[in-house]
Amino acid sequence: MEELRLLPSVHAVLQQNDWEGGEKGIPASVIKKWVQEELDVLRLSLMNGSYKEGWERKRFLAAVSAGVRKKMEINGAYTLKKVVNATGVVLHTNLGRARLSSAAVAHVLEAASSYTNLEYSLEQGTRGSRHDIIENQICDITGCEAAMVVNNNAAAVYMVLSALAKQKKVIVSRGELVEIGGSFRISSIMEESGAILKEVGTTNRTHLHDYASAIDEETAILMKVHTSNFKITGFTKTVFSQELLALKEQHPELIVYEDLGSGSLFPFARYGIGEEPEIKRSIAAGLDLISFSGDKLIGGPQAGIIAGKSKWINQLKKHQLARVLRVDKLTLAALEATLLSYHQEEAAREIPVIRDIIRAEEEIRVQAERIKEKLESVYECHIRKGHSMVGGGTMAAVVLPTYIIEVTHPAFSAPELSRRLREQSVPVIVTVKNDCCHIDPRTVDEADEAALLSAFFSL
Ligand SMILES: *Cc1c(COP(=O)(O)O)cnc(C)c1O
Repeated sequence: MEELRLLPSVHAVLQQNDWEGGEKGIPASVIKKWVQEELDVLRLSLMNGSYKEGWERKRFLAAVSAGVRKKMEINGAYTLKKVVNATGVVLHTNLGRARLSSAAVAHVLEAASSYTNLEYSLEQGTRGSRHDIIENQICDITGCEAAMVVNNNAAAVYMVLSALAKQKKVIVSRGELVEIGGSFRISSIMEESGAILKEVGTTNRTHLHDYASAIDEETAILMKVHTSNFKITGFTKTVFSQELLALKEQHPELIVYEDLGSGSLFPFARYGIGEEPEIKRSIAAGLDLISFSGDKLIGGPQAGIIAGKSKWINQLKKHQLARVLRVDKLTLAALEATLLSYHQEEAAREIPVIRDIIRAEEEIRVQAERIKEKLESVYECHIRKGHSMVGGGTMAAVVLPTYIIEVTHPAFSAPELSRRLREQSVPVIVTVKNDCCHIDPRTVDEADEAALLSAFFSL
């Protein structure tokens, strides 16, 4: 095809725009890749006849340059970027789950830019252990004897099983063999860890005697898994982890372990929200070990916390996997500051995850009215009552009452509008439903409102 010969070379585009040395902090190699992508798009549209402007080298050059410039504006130098979460899903897994508190951010900033006593005892002037950094704090808050922190809760489960039950049996109810987020299955993690899964009971009913009769010399752990992302109702029976402790009277060597998944340090139930197990209660009941996530309901950084009896935690700390799964100073700093908010009973005010979950309906309504008023100059907007989700696979059965703004653009369809909103320099993520874009202000901070409005007005 004759017109294809008129396509400029990558070099010509780079040179024409003076981009050969990079631009706005974006490396030259990235810009070069974008030029290639834009040229591919242009080539394709020429080949399938959808390019409607005249065929001229100058026009082609201008089209490719404009495309790259748009990518620069949208992408900036970074691939990981801030977005406005207008979905109302608080722990949105795809949007990075928890936002950190300001105290946690400040602590991370200081730890990141300084030397720290990560593995140094200031008292003795000798080598210390990073486990000590927040162990005492976790113990104070949860009431446990000992604790350690690993990379995430999946790692915590893997570590407990691998370090304490390799080639031994772990008894789990069939009703708790969950899959979380598509890539974490209790049965698969168990297999990877080298522990042997012993399923008991049925999907809907498991009794204490099911566990009791499955115990033999090869059994190491009685495991409970909190089924946070689904709920079975009807003819059901589960055994509480506390009841499992009764079986230890005849088998004192067994470990009773519960994977709480999210686990909470905040009394959500007191606000009428869900029935998440409170970490303190599980510890007070006397469980040997529990594990929970740092960035679900705790509202901190991605991390997995293992807490319980020193006898077992000490074994875990000495295991090779502790080194493999250890966290860095940034995670520890974020977690320490987050946990401190619980100490000071400031969690509801300071931790964004908790603040968003317990937000008052009336406050959300006022915010929805405020956003609607601004958008109405261009968009058709309606406010109606709706529900937000907690997300992150936790409190699946809980719906949080909220107010939704249904937005329609005079010209663009809802999928088109949502695509354009994602292309802004601070992308806005909305929900598309019934050919409307839905904004749930629950997860939009007042400080994010400007970015949200600016996206809607610069499509
Ligand atoms: C979320 C969850 C996990 C995995 O935790 P991550 O922090 O995402 O690794 C494990 N078990 C349960 C029950 C969970 O809910």
